[in-house]
Amino acid sequence: MTINIKEICEKDRNTVLHPFTQLKDFASGKLGDPTIVETGKGIRIQDAFGNHLIDGFAGLYCVNVGYGRTEVAEAISRQAYRLAYYHSYAAHTTDQLAILSDRLVKMAPGKMSKVFYGMSGSDANETQAKLVWYYNNLRGKPTKKKIISRERGYHGCSVVSGSMTGMSFYHDHMDLPLPHIVHTGAPHHYWGANANETEREFAARRAAELDQLIEELGPDNVGAFIAEPVLGTGGITPPPEGYWEAIQAVLKKHDVLLIADEVITGFGRTGSMFGSQHYGIEPDLITVAKGLTSAYFPLSASIVGEKVYNVLEEGADRVGAFSHGYTYSGHPIGAAAANAVLDIVEKEDLPGNAKEVGAYFQKQLKEKFAQLPIVGEVRGVGLMGAIEFVGDREGKKRFDPALKVGARISKAARDRGLIARAMPHGDILGFAPPLVTTKDEVDEIVAIAESAVKSVM
Ligand code: PLP
Repeated sequence: MTINIKEICEKDRNTVLHPFTQLKDFASGKLGDPTIVETGKGIRIQDAFGNHLIDGFAGLYCVNVGYGRTEVAEAISRQAYRLAYYHSYAAHTTDQLAILSDRLVKMAPGKMSKVFYGMSGSDANETQAKLVWYYNNLRGKPTKKKIISRERGYHGCSVVSGSMTGMSFYHDHMDLPLPHIVHTGAPHHYWGANANETEREFAARRAAELDQLIEELGPDNVGAFIAEPVLGTGGITPPPEGYWEAIQAVLKKHDVLLIADEVITGFGRTGSMFGSQHYGIEPDLITVAKGLTSAYFPLSASIVGEKVYNVLEEGADRVGAFSHGYTYSGHPIGAAAANAVLDIVEKEDLPGNAKEVGAYFQKQLKEKFAQLPIVGEVRGVGLMGAIEFVGDREGKKRFDPALKVGARISKAARDRGLIARAMPHGDILGFAPPLVTTKDEVDEIVAIAESAVKSVM
């Protein structure tokens, strides 16, 4: 298809309300023209001018099987021809939906029972909150409603999920967070630890703080704790040693449900199929999205553990139908896309690739960047990693935010053909390439990143 680039840019500027974009700078042209992304193949995308970019962030950590997978496109097309849509209300289903749900319950960690579908990670977390509240109402604990999440956690942008998100710039001027949502400290040893505190000591302190917070709120008022196995948008930060063990002991003690937000870590990114398996987490509820369909179709799932589901089923005679659902819950094209993607994830052992190529990637990042004078920390797991830049390495002090060091390095990488994301919290360059990335491609990514970082030093 030939497109008129000028016309597309004009139409876009006049009519699209872009997420996470400075509206005035975009409207006035200060941000330049929008990037028109036209095609994708493997780990690369191509813009309307024919420029190729390595997508070192898999879109938004989601195109795990890579771009241009004909198996997925064909599965979507087959399903669209056969049956483009039917709802899943009142016990309607499709073969693709039933097959997918059976797969998810079997592959997910812990004792999972049922799957509820949405369209995005945000709405899936919104569903999790309602499930927590519904569960506690049905089991006669109507005050057990507060949900604790972590500073720098990211759980979405809708009203409840946006409240769970623990970064104030997602709340400011939008009347969030809701009073039901309370935040506790981020598990980031580099910034959070006291002098000489080991990772284990720091993790134990974070768990003790959570324990104290629950005591202060009253255990009868706290319904759930939601967390990503690895902090994602808050800076791609793996947990300190011993963190999950200590946190789970506190949650068990106070009968507080654990929601594992696996929107990024689900389906292989850490090198295990789920981040929960990687860190020994036993969740009661699991949220997945992104990698579920590798973003070939918008689909998310709230996977419900036996403990919660049994209460819902037992209470049904008293409260009637489960009154929650979307027009697109269990969309058959989404289910077909997810089945085709999971076939690839399993056949090509993408968790295994993330483990092996990921180990190589982490080693390269450490070797090339950890000793640079403007680098405070290099961290990551599997195929997700981050370089955090600091103004004063010895004194552990950030750069003045006005210098926009992270954003400048990200732009320098882009000018050299690599998308690596300037993470929103601090001067952090984030990487989360597709899980099909090879070691040769890691070399390309790291070489461009190195040149970009040195151009700004
Ligand atoms: N949870 C996590 C861990 C995420 O990273 C995201 C998005 O980045 C979400 C939830 C929200 O997903 P969505 O943008 O599909 O609403």
